[in-house]
Amino acid sequence: MNTTDNTSKAIAESRELPVIALVVPCYNEEAMLPISAPVLLGILDTMAAEKIASPQSFILCVDDGSKDATFAVIEAQHAADKRFKAISLAHNRGQQNAMLAGLMTAMPLCDAAITVDADLQDSPDAIYEMVRKFREGADIVYGIRNSRSSDSWFKRTSARAFYRLQRNMGLETFYDHSEFRLMSRRSLEMLSEYGERNLFLRGLMPHIGLNYATVHYARNARAAGTTKYSFFKLLSVSIDGITSFTAQPMRLIFLVGLILLLADIAVGIWVLVSHFNGSAISGWSSLMVSVWFLGSLVLISLGIIGEYIGKIFTEVKRRPRYAIKDRLLD
Ligand code: UDP
Ligand code: MG
Repeated sequence: MNTTDNTSKAIAESRELPVIALVVPCYNEEAMLPISAPVLLGILDTMAAEKIASPQSFILCVDDGSKDATFAVIEAQHAADKRFKAISLAHNRGQQNAMLAGLMTAMPLCDAAITVDADLQDSPDAIYEMVRKFREGADIVYGIRNSRSSDSWFKRTSARAFYRLQRNMGLETFYDHSEFRLMSRRSLEMLSEYGERNLFLRGLMPHIGLNYATVHYARNARAAGTTKYSFFKLLSVSIDGITSFTAQPMRLIFLVGLILLLADIAVGIWVLVSHFNGSAISGWSSLMVSVWFLGSLVLISLGIIGEYIGKIFTEVKRRPRYAIKDRLLD
């Protein structure tokens, strides 16, 4: 076989191999990026060498308005290796929006994109398996953790409770799947049709409804830097995860109202009977208890309604979800 044959064979092969984009949301990751960049580039090298993915596969870092030297680290990596591409958001828009910005930027440039956290807590070795399942025909490949032993007791328990609550509210979600996921270009194109501002990708992907596969992996502890999720940020993501998808909480108010109505009838009968027995004592304590109980109930109900009104408020504004400041895509 002569050289021309070899070259054309190589071109034909590389055309068949999918271009994979690793989309990495980064918020204040100056400590972590110098460690994760070589690992991710190593994965690209291996995939190219073993003919799993095209040598044109790349990393797309999304600097989510970091306040530290994250972008300087990204620029240095980009200068050293052009497969390390990046965009930088003008403000901190949160992981969900950062991922969306990265996915939409990568969409025209790749055959499939994989979202990976910058801290590599989601074992990057699972990427090979994800790409294999993609090549076998899956449009979405969900990474599912084997165990949560690296999480604190609180995070583990609250996450489990959250998944259960979501399921009970009728959401299709994958237990122990966070944001480590492969999405084909086709699924990304479908995702781009979703115009909503309150994003919860984990819930949207099953909604898209293309064929999927799962990959199990071990979750490691963070090697450097600290978690970017405070308790309140985590709570806010969890609330979004439910209220963006279902009006069940509002139905619950109605249900609680019905149950209270029944209870009221029972209490009414009891009060009437006590009254005619002559044993009715105007009790201050029972009055106080019911006033407080009803007061809190009203407040909770208003809170839930307020959550939806808040959603309507942000949706009708239709503000752009992110503004890309810089691009290093060459
Ligand atoms: N992240 C982001 N914007 C934010 C918060 C987090 O882009 O406002 C990124 C962060 O840099 C990391 C990923 O989202 O790559 C997951 O965050 P982290 O590891 O802090 O969350 P945890 O693993 O503790 O849940
Ligand atoms: Mg993490």
